[in-house]
Amino acid sequence: MEFRDLRAQYLSFKREMDEAILGAVSSSRFIGGELVTELERRLSDYVGVRHCVTCANGTDALQLALMAWGVGPGDAVFVPDFTFFSTGEVVSAVGATPVFVDVLEQTFNMDPESLRSAYDYVADHTDLRPRVAIPVDLFGQPADYTQLMPLCRELDLLLLEDGAQGFGGTIGDRRACSFGGISTTSFFPAKPLGCYGDGGAVFTDDDGLAELVRSYAVHGKGEGKYDNVRVGMNSRLDTIQAAVLGVKLTSFAEHEIDEVNARARWYDNLLAGTSIEIPKVLKGFRSSWAQYTVRLSESINREILQFRLQKSGVPTMVYYPKPMHEQLAFRGCSICPNSCTVTTRICKTVLSLPIGPYLTRENSASVVHYLQKVLESLS
Ligand SMILES: *Cc1c(COP(=O)(O)O)cnc(C)c1O
Repeated sequence: MEFRDLRAQYLSFKREMDEAILGAVSSSRFIGGELVTELERRLSDYVGVRHCVTCANGTDALQLALMAWGVGPGDAVFVPDFTFFSTGEVVSAVGATPVFVDVLEQTFNMDPESLRSAYDYVADHTDLRPRVAIPVDLFGQPADYTQLMPLCRELDLLLLEDGAQGFGGTIGDRRACSFGGISTTSFFPAKPLGCYGDGGAVFTDDDGLAELVRSYAVHGKGEGKYDNVRVGMNSRLDTIQAAVLGVKLTSFAEHEIDEVNARARWYDNLLAGTSIEIPKVLKGFRSSWAQYTVRLSESINREILQFRLQKSGVPTMVYYPKPMHEQLAFRGCSICPNSCTVTTRICKTVLSLPIGPYLTRENSASVVHYLQKVLESLS
């Protein structure tokens, strides 16, 4: 069984996909063009914001957002301690200082209380200027923007939503990637909406910021490509990937997002009453299930568990084994004012199970069967 079955997905729309890719190739337009423009229009419509600017990957999308806001040396940027490396990496890449904030035990997402106390620490004990908070929609569930948006307003922090894993999630009837002053996503193949290579996008309602992001993404262009008014990057979504995403977005919106939620409920039901803690989705929230991540008891040897599951044909992953504040790359150039004990604990006990809109009922049952069997043998 696959951890995320991208082949079954491809086979479900093979004819349309092959046509779309061949169409892009035979047009011989490989950068930009109508396919990219049309995709950006559809993505911004889906998310419900005025602007979508596509770029080369989700990491660049975050960096472009920080560049558009002019974030740099002397600025403090608040990042969850439990996330993929990129969220903190881009902060250091623009010369600012990442400040790591703990997450909530139940949702794995940024803890508003920890954000407030980290903010107080930076304001009272450092010379840094608090500028931006980057909540992450981890594993597909939007961070709790019902609390984070008013808090960021109160603290006068810009809010950058890292929706790399969150595309397709909702709070009420509002979609992920619409909660930040700027929001970003990734189209890495295994993300909820993935392409066949690297890709990313920046979303905003602000006309001026959208213009700036477009400029930074193409060598800081001014009036034209050879008029360069700022130092930027070269970060574009290939036309072929736009063609791929055109086909995938249709399936995603029409049925995949519902199907992946149905599969999460299969797991919820199969795992109810076992010693395994299932992921919690807040009331009124919907996840896009980038991952289905359970919690094991601390006494379980997770490496042995994974090894035995793999031998039974069940692939699992650990997202993430190490808190950001323990990453060597951030040593001496970041702050972790709170002890981030929740992150430290969950890093030791999380386990992500195979999921995706094409997971079969048979495979989901088999995952739970072997999981219970191996757990019994280990305890
Ligand atoms: C994947 C991911 C990114 C980076 O996206 P890439 O397209 O791989 O650069 C950023 N943040 C989070 C939370 C991610 O999961």
